[in-house]
Amino acid sequence: MRRLYIDFDGVVMDTIPALYSMLEKEGVDLNDEDQKRKAFASYDFGLIIKDKNILNDSVNCINKLLESKRFEISFLSHVNSLEEAVVKIRYLRRHFKDDITIIIVPKWVSKTKMVHSEGAILVDDFSGNLREWKEAGGIAVRFSKDLEAKGYKVLNRLDALLDMFDENGDEIC
Ligand SMILES: [Mg+2]
Repeated sequence: MRRLYIDFDGVVMDTIPALYSMLEKEGVDLNDEDQKRKAFASYDFGLIIKDKNILNDSVNCINKLLESKRFEISFLSHVNSLEEAVVKIRYLRRHFKDDITIIIVPKWVSKTKMVHSEGAILVDDFSGNLREWKEAGGIAVRFSKDLEAKGYKVLNRLDALLDMFDENGDEIC
């Protein structure tokens, strides 16, 4: 089985549009990472981490991936606060039992510093994370609603991984 890490925001859950409209409402300068981080840290993620915001059937898709037994799956999610971490963990544990590991990463730490990325797949919507992952020897797959590849393998539904990787978790060329 190949190790597969799945990002949360913008992959499992469609949180990004709501987060950016919140920043706009609060008058946050989008170029100021520190301001953005502070706004996210004080935001109640419980308002948007809800079943109605599941992105492109992700929960069912992940169940299909589990059933395929091709991947050893973990969630790998950046967080801005411990409260955000708790909301995400509770949500994921409502849908998935102990067959998926949940790894919470402080926003200012690279995902590659938390897990052994070499030979493992990361599905993420953020190119910055994918670039670091690839540089660290991992297999980077971009999640994009509009299938905007930006130089990576791309998908807009998680079950498309079953068309990209075979029964052994090896890449299908
Ligand atoms: Mg993301």
